[in-house]
Parts: sequence; structure tokens; C-alpha cells
Amino acid sequence: MCQAKVILIFMLPVSLYLHIPFCTHRCGYCDFNTYAGLEALMPVYADALQQEARLLAQAAPERLPVQTVFFGGGTPSLLPPQTVEAILQTLAEVYDLAADAEVTLEANPGTLDREKLQGLRAAGINRLSFGVQSSSPEELRLLEREHDFMDVIRAVEWARQTGFDNLNLDWIFGLPGQSLRSWQRNVELAIQLAPEHLSLYALTIEHGTPFRDMAARGLLPDLDADLAADMYELAVDRLAAAGYEQYEISNWARRDSNGELLACKHNLQYWRSLPYAGLGAGAHGFLDGKRTANVLAPAAYIKRLREGAALEFPRTPATVNLTVLEAQDEMGEVMMMGLRLIHEGVSQSSFSQRFGRSLDDVYGREIRQLTRSGLLERMNGEQAGIRLSQRGRLLGNQVFVEFI
Ligand code: SF4
Repeated sequence: MCQAKVILIFMLPVSLYLHIPFCTHRCGYCDFNTYAGLEALMPVYADALQQEARLLAQAAPERLPVQTVFFGGGTPSLLPPQTVEAILQTLAEVYDLAADAEVTLEANPGTLDREKLQGLRAAGINRLSFGVQSSSPEELRLLEREHDFMDVIRAVEWARQTGFDNLNLDWIFGLPGQSLRSWQRNVELAIQLAPEHLSLYALTIEHGTPFRDMAARGLLPDLDADLAADMYELAVDRLAAAGYEQYEISNWARRDSNGELLACKHNLQYWRSLPYAGLGAGAHGFLDGKRTANVLAPAAYIKRLREGAALEFPRTPATVNLTVLEAQDEMGEVMMMGLRLIHEGVSQSSFSQRFGRSLDDVYGREIRQLTRSGLLERMNGEQAGIRLSQRGRLLGNQVFVEFI
């Protein structure tokens, strides 16, 4: 990589993802790197996480400016607030953590009470992302979620009472046996809860999950892709009418009183292919043009951090895979991730600033073909670039595959 590009990347603010790989139960559809029954490891795991943050900071050629922190999992809300506070203090010591940094914690509604939420707010968490998934007892049972919808209502109410003014709710649609009517009810209840942000994902049956085994043995009704598309369109229309702006294929946000869209800044960093560090077991990072992946097992992660020292940036003792991205691969990722941003898309100017070549120079043939088939559209003027068309939003994978 040329020197100019290294300097450019280090001047960019970085996002930090912290993986908390503990759950009280593994849900049947989940393929995340998370474990039930290992909660006793949480204190030493939190120490290891802080050690990884320190070692990455020591290896960096300058103090990294951090603008977002995201505790994801797993179930980060299992962590005691004092532990979250200790981790955030360490981050503030070793990085230039912006005073207005977005600090999100993923929470399972059944793991919270008012006192815990107060503790998390005092620790510095300013955004909560609740894994709601459904309001229906049958659907929650099918997904093997441990909470019920009353837990969600209470968690949202307590979060508001304890001063959280930036909430996301995650929902899943296209469940086996789910009717359009049931999904419509979920969308209406989501609106009634009035979060600042909503993430709606279609269920996919992943390899290695109990759902995959059940499907293979004929124990799970087939997923209905057409019905899932109808559910998506229903949500698009209804959320727009309720004042939510869709800014990404699966994400919607409201505007605050100053007119600012309350999009998830942390995830924008991914969609814009900007740098982020992934700390914790199985976490992935993208720093200095290199992709990193950490060891999966929490016990192995803890051992590596206990025994290891600072390494060449962006490697840490937990890194088990480091890939230097070729320009062609990075361009493909910029296209695939950027096109998920349905209004912003991929701009001519940011692409050519980053790669020294124009979008049409690199992808002219693909862009012409996808524009002709009505899946992409060109933006002109100041925002010049490309984005998915209305039809392309439903067929995103057909578009992305052309760029990788
Ligand atoms: S709570 Fe979330 S992370 Fe944990 S097993 Fe269930 S889906 Fe996976």
C-alpha cells in the first residue's frame, strides 16, 4: 500500500466493535460466535478485552481517534454495568474517544431491570439496541427467545425513564409459518414503541444451526420468499407513513428535533467501508487496508491475551487471520457495502478519491448493464454516483454479485 493511503486511513476516525460471546441459551436460528454456560468467564474475558484494546493502541503508529463503540454479541447486557464502565474507561485511556461518541450496547429485553439500565447509562452507554424479533408468543417460542413481549414493553419504558434517547429495535420477518397479518401486527407494535431506529431482517437458515437440521429433517415449514418480499414491502410503506426514513436495505431511522437522521453511526462505518477494530473472541476488523479475524473460543482468546504482547499493527495476540486487501477486492467491498445505503449509494467523488480511478473506469460495463435492467440508477449533480433502484432494493444480491 502506498504511503499516502496509510496516512489517509490513520487520519480517519475509527469505530470499535467489542464482541461479548455469552448467552444464557443458544437460539435455534443463531450462527453467531456465542456460547451458553460460559458466564463464569465474563470477568476474565472483560480483562482480556481491555488488554486487547491496550495492545492494539500500543501497536498503532498514532493515538487512534474513535467515534463509535459497539458492544455486540452474544448478549452484552449480561455484563454487569461496572464491567461495562471499566471497559469504557480503558478505551478512553488508550484511544481518543470522541466526547460525543455513539456508544451502543445490544441488549436482550429479558436481561434488564431499571437499576441495570441506570448503571449502563451512568457507565457511558448512550444507545441501546434491543433484540425484540417478534411480539407473538408463538414466534418467540419458535425462535427459542427467552423473553416475551411484556419484557420488551417494560425494557423500553425503563430505558426512557433512565434517560436513553436513542433506541433501536431489531425484528425478524419471514419466519416459518408467519402470516402477513402477524407481521403487520409486529410492524404496528414497533411503531407504537416509538424507537429512534428500527432494523428489520429476513430470517435466513444458516449452516450449522439447529434450524438447518430441523429444515433438513422436514420439521420446519419452508421459508416463503414471495411472502417475505410482501412483508418487506408492507414494512417499507408503513414505516414511511409513520415518519421513519429507510436509509439502508434493512434499516430505518427517525430525525431528531434538529433534523438530523438518527442512523446508526457505527454501522454506517461498515457500509462506507471505513476503518474499524474488532476486539474480542471471533471479532473481525478492517484497519490499514487489512482485514483481521480473531480466535473464536473465549478460553483461547483469554489465554492469548494473558500471554501475548503488542504486535505489528493491526495484529493483536488474538488475531488468527490477517488479509491484506488488494485494490480490486476493496473496490468490490466498497460497491457491495455502499449500495446497501439506498439513498447515499456509492459516490463518484469518494470512489475516485479512494482509488484514483473513476467508477465508470472500473465498473462501467456492470453499471450500464444493471442500469439497463432497472436495478441501478445514476445520481447526478453534487451527489453524482450510483445507487439501487426501487426494484434493485428487493434484488440486492443480484446486484452485489456483479461487483465481486
Ligand atoms: S440471544 Fe442472540 S446471540 Fe444469543 S443465541 Fe440468541 S440470537 Fe444468538
